[in-house]
Amino acid sequence: MSNRLDILAIGAHPDDVEIGMGGTIAKYAKAGLKIGICDLTKAELSSNGTVAIRQEEAKRAGDIIGLSERIQLSLPDRGLYMLDTSIKEIVTIIRKYEPKVVFAPYFDDRHPDHGHCSRLVEEAVFSAGIKNYQDLLGQSSHRVKNLYFYMINGFHKPDFVINISETIEQKIESLKAYSSQFEKVQGSTETPLTNGYIEAVESRERLYGKEVGVMYAEGFMTKKPILLSKDLIGDNE
Ligand SMILES: [Zn+2]
Repeated sequence: MSNRLDILAIGAHPDDVEIGMGGTIAKYAKAGLKIGICDLTKAELSSNGTVAIRQEEAKRAGDIIGLSERIQLSLPDRGLYMLDTSIKEIVTIIRKYEPKVVFAPYFDDRHPDHGHCSRLVEEAVFSAGIKNYQDLLGQSSHRVKNLYFYMINGFHKPDFVINISETIEQKIESLKAYSSQFEKVQGSTETPLTNGYIEAVESRERLYGKEVGVMYAEGFMTKKPILLSKDLIGDNE
């Protein structure tokens, strides 16, 4: 059976991808695409929740948005530096799942790990396409068609947006699945996540939607221009 995915979204910690593009994943999963998330770390340094709890939450969140696959690497939390060993692990995943499109965090983000993850994925996407680059499984090269960047904490003017009006509920539900991160309960440590974070994400997607005349949208960045594939005058979704 082929492992092949249409889309592979990579994050530093379980919940990064859901924050940035859970609605887009739910939308395209519903349309029949095979989508996977790869978390580079287990977020073992989280202020709240344990690794075991976060793994369970990630599983639930992934089910809510219709993931085909969740891949968990064990790179060190707060240790996502530009190391060849880390790039090689990511190349191995890209070649194994052969995605057409890869998503990484946008590098301009309050949390340094998100920026490091962004750069590691960009390196890995490039190396995955090089024939003589050896990965950990001796797989052949794979060229990713497009690399896009989703926003986690940042609020930037996006290069493009995707309408998620139909799947905003699923996105919110998937975030709520990470209750150890976003719920303030007795004994939990106050973090930027425990103070109305989900509401802030929802408001951000509402504003992105407003910019293009829909209810909710997620914003993305790209380093290459976007080729419009439908009628210039018509609905370009
Ligand atoms: Zn994160």
